[in-house]
Amino acid sequence: MTYGHGFTRSPPNDIKVLISGAGTGGLMTALECWKKGCEVRIIERASVSNTQGDSYTIGPSAINAVCQWPEMKKDIDRIAYDPLFAMNNVKLETLKGPMKVGAIIQEGSKAERIGYYMRPEFQEMLLSQLDKIGVEVEYERPVVDYFEDEKSGQAGVVLQDGSRLQADVVVAADGIRTASSPLVVGEPVPAKSSGHAIFRVAYPVELAVADPLVAERFKLDKDGNSVLEMFHGPDTFGLFWRNDKWMNWAIDHLDSRGTSEESWSNRVDSSEALKFTATIPGWSEVANRVIKATPANTLVDWTLMWRDPQPKWTSPGGRVVQIGDAAHTFIPSSGNGGTQAIEDAVSLATCIAAAGKNNLPNATRVHNLLRFERVSFIQAMGVANRDRHNTNKAKHKQNRNFVWGTWLVDHNPEEYALDNFTSALANITTGAPFKNSNTPPGVAYQPWTMDGLAEALEKGEPSILDGDWI
Ligand SMILES: Cc1cc2nc3c(=O)[nH]c(=O)nc-3n(C[C@H](O)[C@H](O)[C@H](O)COP(=O)(O)OP(=O)(O)OC[C@H]3O[C@@H](n4cnc5c(N)ncnc54)[C@H](O)[C@@H]3O)c2cc1C
Repeated sequence: MTYGHGFTRSPPNDIKVLISGAGTGGLMTALECWKKGCEVRIIERASVSNTQGDSYTIGPSAINAVCQWPEMKKDIDRIAYDPLFAMNNVKLETLKGPMKVGAIIQEGSKAERIGYYMRPEFQEMLLSQLDKIGVEVEYERPVVDYFEDEKSGQAGVVLQDGSRLQADVVVAADGIRTASSPLVVGEPVPAKSSGHAIFRVAYPVELAVADPLVAERFKLDKDGNSVLEMFHGPDTFGLFWRNDKWMNWAIDHLDSRGTSEESWSNRVDSSEALKFTATIPGWSEVANRVIKATPANTLVDWTLMWRDPQPKWTSPGGRVVQIGDAAHTFIPSSGNGGTQAIEDAVSLATCIAAAGKNNLPNATRVHNLLRFERVSFIQAMGVANRDRHNTNKAKHKQNRNFVWGTWLVDHNPEEYALDNFTSALANITTGAPFKNSNTPPGVAYQPWTMDGLAEALEKGEPSILDGDWI
């Protein structure tokens, strides 16, 4: 059916999808499932719309999917940033650049840029599109458990007040500490500190540029482009990004201060960051001025936790499926948390529609098969990227600069799911051979763990990061 907003919605398919979590992945899943003809319901733990956070990267593979929605395409043109990028030392002396961030994309790719977004604006865009199609997020609905009943073909969630909601498919989009792990994996996925944490915040740029030295150091270029100023040093790296509306800064530090937590609401005083920068020889004074201008109660100190790649995203009966951070967490240096959550949303909705109401458990299993290896490679890339920025780890053989290959940026998750659905389904139902083609072309997938990868990097031994990644 052609909808009033310039796109076609598939006829109703009588499939009820319940989504828990209204973050980037959950909202996009609601939109995509609705577009494929499903009846969707989306619930969220928070009491108001979840538009917190500072910045994130959303790659071309995800933005192309978002831009299939004509009104969101217009929004993307308005909210996307295409900053110049400079690499600095801890004195904020520029070592490389400024240059287009898109310079890290493999030559020959269809993608022109890697967009930077303010998370609050991106979330607002998804929420507004959902509002336009008449789907409301139901707030203050914290999920404490998931269940499924294979006989009745239903799955559901238990809310904190004990009430139960059910549907044909339940999507756990409830982030890093998903309540679906006991059903899907059997136990919570173990998480441990990577040894690092990150101070991060974005605040209105006027507060920063009120200081003339800050205004002079962090200028827009003559064409009005913002400059994303990254820096690296011993056991630290980070960024200062001043754009037309925001001053965004982030500083990675060793997780030894006792102030860090894996929580977006773990606020600390900016004096904690200043105590840390005081330990860095030669640290830039103007950078400290940016830190000092940070409004009270806004700075987050986030522990970077490691979770091993977890291959199973679906419940035993296939009616509950994890997506986004609930299925796979990333450290920020991967630049892919939001992108992969959106790819998941598109892939899952496509598999659900392709399978139809009578084959939903296999829809989620096919989605899992099509997505896991790709995501796992990108998780490993994030570890390598982080080490690359640590001047104490310069000796690492694989301390390499990853080009964002066409396999990563030119991927179309809808097309991929459609093209591979039948053969992936045959693999699941009959064991017929199946090989993914959405991973680095010159590298064979092999299972890996965070500890194993860190040790291989330390000793210069072979790892999943070897081989031709483009
Ligand atoms: C408040 C917040 C701020 C963030 N800021 C940034 C940022 O500045 N930069 C960045 O790179 N990434 C940020 N992220 C993370 C980033 O959005 C995700 O890593 C990525 O987009 C993947 O999206 P996701 O939907 O899987 O997870 P998320 O975007 O984290 O969404 C998960 C959602 O599930 C909800 N939820 C959690 N538990 C339950 C429950 N039991 N019942 C119901 N709902 C539940 C959460 O409230 C949240 O809305 C932020 C996430 C949050 C929640």
